[in-house]
Amino acid sequence: MSLLPQRTDLDVVGAGLTVRLPGGDTVPFAHLDYAASAPCVRAAAEAVEGLLPWYGSVHRGAGIRSRRSTQEYERARDVIAGFVGARPGDTVVFTRNTTDALNLLARCLPADVTTIVFDGEHHANLLPWPAPLRLATPSSPDAAVETLERALRSLRGPALLAVTGASNVTGEIWPVRRLADLAHRYGARVVVDAAQLAPHSPVDLAELGADYLALSGHKLYAPFGAGVLAGRADWLDAAAPYLRGGGASASVGAAGDVTWSTGPARHEGGTPNLLGAVSLAAVCAALTRADRAALHDREQDLLARLRGGLTGVPGAAEVSLFGPAQPRVGIVSLALPGNDAAAVADRLADDHGIGVRAGQFCAHPLTRRLTGAAGVATCDASTAALLRVSFGLGTTGADIDRFVGALGALTSVGAGRQLVGARTGR
Ligand code: PLP
Repeated sequence: MSLLPQRTDLDVVGAGLTVRLPGGDTVPFAHLDYAASAPCVRAAAEAVEGLLPWYGSVHRGAGIRSRRSTQEYERARDVIAGFVGARPGDTVVFTRNTTDALNLLARCLPADVTTIVFDGEHHANLLPWPAPLRLATPSSPDAAVETLERALRSLRGPALLAVTGASNVTGEIWPVRRLADLAHRYGARVVVDAAQLAPHSPVDLAELGADYLALSGHKLYAPFGAGVLAGRADWLDAAAPYLRGGGASASVGAAGDVTWSTGPARHEGGTPNLLGAVSLAAVCAALTRADRAALHDREQDLLARLRGGLTGVPGAAEVSLFGPAQPRVGIVSLALPGNDAAAVADRLADDHGIGVRAGQFCAHPLTRRLTGAAGVATCDASTAALLRVSFGLGTTGADIDRFVGALGALTSVGAGRQLVGARTGR
């Protein structure tokens, strides 16, 4: 019997990466920036490696490579449809990422639909919508429901609620099901930005009560440039193609008259990202096979360890929208009064071999509000405001402990203040 640790589909590629510190020590790199881009897992890397010898054009050839590539691409779509619980009549469109997926849906909105968004959204779910009805960021799940109900009552025509599954800043899980049930009572549809929820928790369209769902492969351990929009086909089939060109067009007449494809092809103009789709499907399949409850418990243990450790770091205050008891995924953002978060992040990287992110995390209205509440100088677009720690598969207790220890050491001596010229945090 081998005493070597068993390799699994969900092992992180590059888990043993080490970095040399200025003092000469070499330490394992502690990657704590999963919310920006998660590392690749073996399932994704092996899916790519396995397919490369067969790589060929998708939907565009008769040769064996093309046939195999087409088959794998469509199989990937089916696997992802299963992963997100697509219902009969739903469609799965491959996109570049969540931003692309939400922009696609925004372009497909019937003209009379009003989109409703809370201000606390990531810019990807705030900016694509034409003239949205913007609601103040709520301070509790109940307040979110009440605010939405007031908005829905005030509207006359059809509506779409665009809401995040989990905040990319605080990690807090939004009350999606309650909001969706309410929206549906008023005849509105719901799109869930699952960019941060999907890497941590099962995402099922029916269970969430969502009409559409968007996610990114690079946050879901498959960093090969694919994302997904899944959901009801009717608006997508009725809208103009997202990208006009080959694949999106079924036929083009001599006079330039075009019959556009329906189904996913309508919005997947040009040669698709086969490796992105296949690697994403491989991770979805691996997660489906995995014990998600055990993964969840492990992540929650790490979260408790982090938050417990941070209570001993007086210079760091966790920010939150709904309060400390709100369920959350493995993301924590900290206000560091008196310290420059970007400078602290640089010192963590340079002196300790720890990778985190500082800034506003493409959620400016939300971070402005959170930093104001935390008593930190309110950020403008050019300064970093918060320090974010995020983690998932492959993260160890030692990674968390090293971060807590290093942060405590840096903030106690005000190390972040000594550096000038903080990097811009988008
Ligand atoms: N939505 C949320 C909640 C996010 O955190 C992000 C990225 O951080 C996005 C959308 C946009 O994702 P992408 O950059 O992959 O398009």
